[in-house]
Amino acid sequence: MPETTSLAPLPLKSSPDLMDQISAQLIQLQDQKLLRKRRVVDGPQGPVMAIDGKQILAFSNNDYLGLANHPALIAAAHDGLTRFGVGAASSALISGHSSVCEELEVALAAFVGMPRALHFSNGYMANMGIIPALVGPGDLVLSDRLNHACLIDGARLSGAEFRVYAHSDVARVEQQLAKSTSPRKLIVTDGVFSMDGDIAPLPALLALCEKYDAWLLVDDAHGFGVLGPQGRGSLAHFGLASPRVLYMGTLGKAAGVAGAFVAGDATLIEWLLQRARTYVFTTASPPMLACALLATLELLETEDWRQQHLRQLAKQLREGLADLPWPLLPSESAIQALVVGDNQLALDLMAALFEQDIWVPAIRPPTVPKGTARLRISLSAAHTTEQVAQLINALHVAAEKMSAKKYSASGENTPADPDYI
Ligand SMILES: *Cc1c(COP(=O)(O)O)cnc(C)c1O
Repeated sequence: MPETTSLAPLPLKSSPDLMDQISAQLIQLQDQKLLRKRRVVDGPQGPVMAIDGKQILAFSNNDYLGLANHPALIAAAHDGLTRFGVGAASSALISGHSSVCEELEVALAAFVGMPRALHFSNGYMANMGIIPALVGPGDLVLSDRLNHACLIDGARLSGAEFRVYAHSDVARVEQQLAKSTSPRKLIVTDGVFSMDGDIAPLPALLALCEKYDAWLLVDDAHGFGVLGPQGRGSLAHFGLASPRVLYMGTLGKAAGVAGAFVAGDATLIEWLLQRARTYVFTTASPPMLACALLATLELLETEDWRQQHLRQLAKQLREGLADLPWPLLPSESAIQALVVGDNQLALDLMAALFEQDIWVPAIRPPTVPKGTARLRISLSAAHTTEQVAQLINALHVAAEKMSAKKYSASGENTPADPDYI
């Protein structure tokens, strides 16, 4: 075996021009305050995380119920490792569909009150597979302006006509459905909007689906585990059920693990199993994850203090921040968005909080529309009321510091972003 250190570096194949272009684009991102940096986290996710050797109070992840490091899930994953090993080793349709994954699909369908469920490796892949399996060229997809990137990408990939409506604009959806002659019509929406925290007008959207013979795909990445009785999700929150709805939930956020599922009418689910390419052509996820997820469902069904505590924390935060110069968007969920407008102001606020050992991410375009940069405060049932009080206090200190500086309140220095729809 030759020593790796003695190997000559591979010759660079790409043209210098191309590299210069990419470097210039990176510099441009930097100039626009849009260059993202990752912080290295040492150890598990939780309200307090180790970063650069320091203990930081974090309001940054989507572990809304505090399950990502829960002993019951860890024990179930250990047990799963012993029973199933580490990898699934093939696609579910070849030989990778384990008994525990089968059990999980049945349990997920029962939990959300739907006939059948199909388990995907993650939410991004679920949407990229579901939408093109349902609609194609000549069909119509209607999408909320604030939908998650993977709904948009899935819709684009399908080749169907893709129309975006203003956020929660049900009247506009009706106009589009009324004039459409497409054989298949699909409305796609986040259940809880990921960067705003508000809930989609699902009863009205479903009523339109009934009236105009359309389907509704709800991406409940931020509602599953949080909203509705025992966290059964945004459909349960409204008490909705219909064979026209496909319910997509992700399992890496409130559920604390990884993965996603889609639940709905048994025939539709069978079709997705046959035809969703991101299900068919990928290695099944490790069975031990399904073991941990069964432990999640057990906790959800037997204990609901987490959702109640979360609602209490949201109320505390909203009351505590009411006198800040920036608005909190209306939200009943774990996501509380403080919209400050300007990119640099959002970054400066994040830095001022970080100086106080608190981590709240600044969210900028293209993740949110131009001029709406914000702090996205993620609450978790694992936070204490004392920790939320600490955040409220730190934000007041930071706001005081910012008031002396000049920012463009409208976010005018934010460049137009062609990638954001
Ligand atoms: C996080 C998220 C996804 C992606 O789910 P992953 O399992 O993380 O790939 C999809 N939709 C929404 C609304 C999300 O917030």
